Amino acid sequence: VSTWAQVPQGPPDPILGVTEAFRADRDPCKMNLGVGAYRDNDGKPYVLSCVRKAEKRLLDKSMDKEYLGITGHPGFVQRASKLAYGADSPALAESRVAATQSISGTGALRIGGEFLSRYYPYAKKIYLPTPSWGNHTPIFRDSGLEVGQYRYFDKTTNGLNIDGMLEDLQNLPANSIVLMHACAHNPTGVDPTAEQWDQISQVIKDRDHFCFFDMAYQGFASGNVDRDAQAVRQFVSRGHYVALSQSFAKNMGLYGERVGTFSLVCQSTEEMKAVESQLKILIRPLYSNPPLNGARIVNQVLSDSTLYSEWLSEVKGMADRIISMRTALKDHLVNDFGSQHNWDHITNQIGMFCYTGLKPDQVEKLTKEHHVYLTKDGRISIAGISSRNVEYLAQSIHAVTK
Ligand code: PLP
Repeated sequence: VSTWAQVPQGPPDPILGVTEAFRADRDPCKMNLGVGAYRDNDGKPYVLSCVRKAEKRLLDKSMDKEYLGITGHPGFVQRASKLAYGADSPALAESRVAATQSISGTGALRIGGEFLSRYYPYAKKIYLPTPSWGNHTPIFRDSGLEVGQYRYFDKTTNGLNIDGMLEDLQNLPANSIVLMHACAHNPTGVDPTAEQWDQISQVIKDRDHFCFFDMAYQGFASGNVDRDAQAVRQFVSRGHYVALSQSFAKNMGLYGERVGTFSLVCQSTEEMKAVESQLKILIRPLYSNPPLNGARIVNQVLSDSTLYSEWLSEVKGMADRIISMRTALKDHLVNDFGSQHNWDHITNQIGMFCYTGLKPDQVEKLTKEHHVYLTKDGRISIAGISSRNVEYLAQSIHAVTK
């Protein structure tokens, strides 16, 4: 028999499967609302103009291609950390944030998972919101952590189940690891309010839990990078020693460049140094050192005041387009097609995704009869909607929910 005869056929990735089916569809009205990448109003991938300019400058400098150190580009890591924790962050000023460049957000989560699985002194189990990004479970499981859940989304309101969430966090064993989406929760688009974050922070403090923030969308939720980092900064200022995964895939449109950071707020510089030494030991056999290009681009944008301002307005432009598509979708549903359902969650939710509340049979109908492609859980990527197809989408959603 062949050596690999016993290898079972694995299931396809649920999201990439949606894109494949979309490609095969010949209907001119077809829409792909499965992708997690921003599209402009013409449905095209969007490269930020600040990024194009940064690339040009880098090219003109004819820089070498030497290896980065194990923890990456020092200027990039420092500026990225400032962006996340705030320029005036005491934790940064006190040199007690251990940080490393990562292979985007996914790599940061994996480094964090591996670190926790080696050094977290309590139960090696991480609790995720229900639902969470589909890749969280395999990332943490493959890192050697057990995976548990806490309540998050309320299907009856299409909003946050704050009572269930607080109750679950309260009832977890003391010193549990909990994962939180810093903003623009994927897949639901539902974020806690500032007051709710206060309550969450309090329970986590009372129970001595450890909070791992996944920040894949800073700037993408509200259009403002400081506002979107509020939860992280608030936790740090209240004395939580958080871990953070940061990605520049979405907010700088650098998806394929794979640029991000992993960081851990420590109690002292000494502790930070020990943690960084172990991060190096962990990363070295994984991939030796991270890729150069994306880190250089982000460093260029964050260190030049003109490019930085341009970036802030481009992030806001992306967030605003998404918010305006939410408004238009709800408006068409309610005012043009007279849908009797409550669609307030479309505009209450935030970020790239909307959890429509559509049932699996309605999703199937939407795809089969209206050529609209989305994941089975009813999640649509607002980034896939444009002013040209939003009315068609509303009409189609209305047709399957009448
Ligand atoms: N975390 C969440 C919640 C995400 O939605 C994503 C991307 O979709 C990521 C992390 C990681 O993305 P990347 O590895 O491209 O930075």
